[in-house]
Amino acid sequence: ESWPRSQGISYENLQQVLLQTPIEGKAREWSQYYAAGPHLAGKNLSQALWTRERWQEWGISASIATYDVYINYPVGHRLALLRRSLGAILDPDTGDGEDVYEVKYECKLEEDVLEEDSTTGLDNRVPTFHGYSASGNVTAQYVYANFGTYEDFEDLVKANISLEGKIALVKYGHIFRGLKVKRAQELGMVGTVMYTDPQEDGNITEVNGYDTYPNGPARNPSSVQRGSAQFLNAGLLPGDPTTPGYPSKPGVPRKDPSFSTPIIPSLPISYQDALSLLKALNGHGPKASAFNEYWQGGGLGYKGVEYNIGPSAGNVVLNLVNEQEYTITPLWNVIGIINGTIAEEVVVLGNHRDAWIAGGAGDPNSGSAALNEVIRSFGAALDQGWKPLRTIVFASWDGEEYGLIGSTEWVEEYLPWLSHAAIAYVNVDVGTRGPRFSASASPLLNKAIYEATSLVLSPNQTTPGQTVRDLWDGHVRTMGSGSDFTAFQDFAGIPSVDLGFGGSHNDPVYHYHSNYDSSHWMDKFGDPGFHYHIAMAKVFALFAASLVESPIVGFNATDYALGLATYLNSVIGLASDSKHDSIRSISFTPLTDAVATLHTATVAFDARAEALSQQIQQGVPWWKWWQKAKLYYEVQTVNAKYKYLERQFLHPDGLDGRSWYKHVVFAPGLWTGYSGATFPGLVERVQAADGEGVRRWRAIIEKIVKKATESLT
Ligand code: GLU
Ligand code: CA
Ligand code: ZN
Ligand code: ZN
Repeated sequence: ESWPRSQGISYENLQQVLLQTPIEGKAREWSQYYAAGPHLAGKNLSQALWTRERWQEWGISASIATYDVYINYPVGHRLALLRRSLGAILDPDTGDGEDVYEVKYECKLEEDVLEEDSTTGLDNRVPTFHGYSASGNVTAQYVYANFGTYEDFEDLVKANISLEGKIALVKYGHIFRGLKVKRAQELGMVGTVMYTDPQEDGNITEVNGYDTYPNGPARNPSSVQRGSAQFLNAGLLPGDPTTPGYPSKPGVPRKDPSFSTPIIPSLPISYQDALSLLKALNGHGPKASAFNEYWQGGGLGYKGVEYNIGPSAGNVVLNLVNEQEYTITPLWNVIGIINGTIAEEVVVLGNHRDAWIAGGAGDPNSGSAALNEVIRSFGAALDQGWKPLRTIVFASWDGEEYGLIGSTEWVEEYLPWLSHAAIAYVNVDVGTRGPRFSASASPLLNKAIYEATSLVLSPNQTTPGQTVRDLWDGHVRTMGSGSDFTAFQDFAGIPSVDLGFGGSHNDPVYHYHSNYDSSHWMDKFGDPGFHYHIAMAKVFALFAASLVESPIVGFNATDYALGLATYLNSVIGLASDSKHDSIRSISFTPLTDAVATLHTATVAFDARAEALSQQIQQGVPWWKWWQKAKLYYEVQTVNAKYKYLERQFLHPDGLDGRSWYKHVVFAPGLWTGYSGATFPGLVERVQAADGEGVRRWRAIIEKIVKKATESLT
């Protein structure tokens, strides 16, 4: 038999194994193991070894890929609200004297230890701090800057609020935290303090009568969101900031990281700590609500906060101390592999293992538990003699939290192989923190997502037999950043998907990057019974299995072309709304035409793939060997074209000012970070009213779209 195929068990049997193997008790066991141990990047070797051992036990060959990376660990911090008064007169001529500071409020900078939740009292709990933050000791007046978005700071500049030399007090939300620090720094501010306002918690707030964790589902007032303050998006790239574009192997030359990391100190705080700071602004400077509707709101009105902008009174200052130790330390990715019949078609599945906190039951352990159940299930299939058609690689990434480091360094190292062989990357980060399925993906994968979610029963069926697909609105979001798919999708051009069960504004508040993202929270509020963990594992496994096993790669190129048409329309809308004639007058017709031609080609190509698929199902009699050889050749050709389609959209020079990002269709938004931008090169030039730049990007994209079209015909 020269026909390439999986061996041992049928696809239907494989699906049954993948649906029947994952069980709640096991997922909970893995989750509890990870959530009780040291997680921080570079400090989790025991968990890497344990993970490798489990995977090997389940029949997967596994090894550890190590990188030496530049990261920071917290040493000390202080944030205090001070009132300055003049002490002894030191110079009788000028009247200058020594400053005397009275401490009005000393921030705790620590989450409460809860008797009910043992994780919160672990010795190895991690202090509240920001990854890649700058050490510093500054004392200055401060200004409340809403969410600290680019637009928020613009509003303050327009209103002549003096920012230079001040500390920014901002809310978490809307954009990646590092970009808040970046903008404050660019405006000459000397520090950034961030807190999570209960306004982010939807309906589940104290004001609405909900008790706070651990007694109820509302946010614990002392909870703090840790997280990376790297400038990864505007700034240029994820991964180790000292090795842009190449792997952090021992001894490699290193670049100065300051282009991609803050130079002003920052600290995350709880809303309990933020209260005194916010209240001291009452009556100082304009009311936030006077700006525009985006500034309305803030959930601490019931505690007496009026949300004034400030600056704080001339004698009311913050002392912000942040002490970080920077070091170059090993990180450990665990990499598992199941060799398929076809070596040069590879599907990669990944989840990160590192966490900010001792717990991390949601982020990332819910995903790690699901991945382990997926691997255990594939292992069960191997036991039955299964050998997959394509090769599967599993990854447990380290260093995601600091800036997607483990995955980025790995992709940078294996780029030649991945460019040649990778079919897709499937990411699960927070697998479960509520009951609502969500997915973001390259449109090539939309069809496969609908199929996999239709095969898994929902843990919450309002009518019997409902699947995950039935209870999901079916909206596949575009790829942004914020997790390990970034290097695959935006740097290597590998179609990627990010899957997970999230929460809505009516679900228990998820204590993101806080000590309360614990096993206890997960058991009591996040996923009691672990049913969603198991649904996650099944969707993950079935999605992967369909990519690995279907003789014709399960992509839909037409969806990609339709996606491009939609993104292009939004660029055209943006350009026609421009205040500048020079932008409004630009014709996008050549591009619209190119996308329309691509669309026609994709429809034909998908039809050709479908016809092949049917021929394979019907089978070719053995004696028509010449037909069989022809069919085999055709299948290889079509699969290779699908495999390389996303790669066509890479532009070797990368995006303007951030050349690490190579994809002309998808990138993290320049000033959003998490949410994605489509046709970023073009959109940024439209926004900058740079007619020549718009034409340059129009030409780049037109050429790429035509090349993609040719590749299919
Ligand atoms: N997922 C982490 C976060 O949002 C890391 C994101 C990143 O560095 O891109 O903080
Ligand atoms: Ca690197
Ligand atoms: Zn995560
Ligand atoms: Zn995280």
